[in-house]
Amino acid sequence: MLGDMYLQKFVDETTLYNDIVLGHLLPSHWRGPLPHYFQTWLRNYLAATLIYFVSGFLWCFYIYYWKRNVYVHTDNIPTTKAMLLQIYVAMKAMPFYCALPTLSEFMIENGWTKCFSTISEVGWFTYILYSVSYFVLVEFAIYWMHKGMHDIKPLYKYLHATHHTYNKQNTLSPFAGLAFHPIDGLLEAAPHVMVLFFIPTHFRTHIGLIFFEAIWTANTHDCIHAKIWPVMGAGYHTIHHTTYRHNYGHYTIWMDWMLGTLRHPDEDANDKLK
Ligand SMILES: [Zn+2]
Ligand SMILES: [Zn+2]
Repeated sequence: MLGDMYLQKFVDETTLYNDIVLGHLLPSHWRGPLPHYFQTWLRNYLAATLIYFVSGFLWCFYIYYWKRNVYVHTDNIPTTKAMLLQIYVAMKAMPFYCALPTLSEFMIENGWTKCFSTISEVGWFTYILYSVSYFVLVEFAIYWMHKGMHDIKPLYKYLHATHHTYNKQNTLSPFAGLAFHPIDGLLEAAPHVMVLFFIPTHFRTHIGLIFFEAIWTANTHDCIHAKIWPVMGAGYHTIHHTTYRHNYGHYTIWMDWMLGTLRHPDEDANDKLK
């Protein structure tokens, strides 16, 4: 009984998110009969699409037009056609991507995971400890998911090759960040959900981190080497797109560094000069 009351906190929170996003878009007599989890999916879909377009457009505007020739040489600016194609691939996959946070919210609301509702339940110190553990486990699992996509040939051929269509600097853009085969995108993001069964996770932090992926992947495909250690930014990820066998990592260079697959952008630039 106490468990049910506790789980109700998650349902109340997701209902509030549904109200915020859908409340102004759909008349209440339309929305009312829709099942809770369909509303959740729709809210995730609209929110993710909005984040994808707003972050993509703003970032492209800033690096390609406002700061023209500062971060990206004019010759390396991707064509509008290339960007539209990336948007097309991403938008085709988006309804499927949104099934993942919908599934995770379903499992959380039904008490299948170790999620907790408020930070005050565990205290800030424990919250930070859990969040770091979440981060480390996701980092580890995404590395292996991504490496598996390259090492297991049918997975590469039928799934991951879609994302590797963009294999030159001037074909990559922030919009390529979510341009995956839907199953590839789901598998590579799945660690965010798998981790909930092992690490007690603050619900809102988990939702925030899943959506942060849309911004993060846009950033790692802009080809700008930010030189912030130990962040695995676009300088590293561009090399991944050109050599196919380095820099499989996600947020940091640690996994590649430990497993010998790291290639530094400066080292790459020096080799090209030779
Ligand atoms: Zn790859
Ligand atoms: Zn990529």
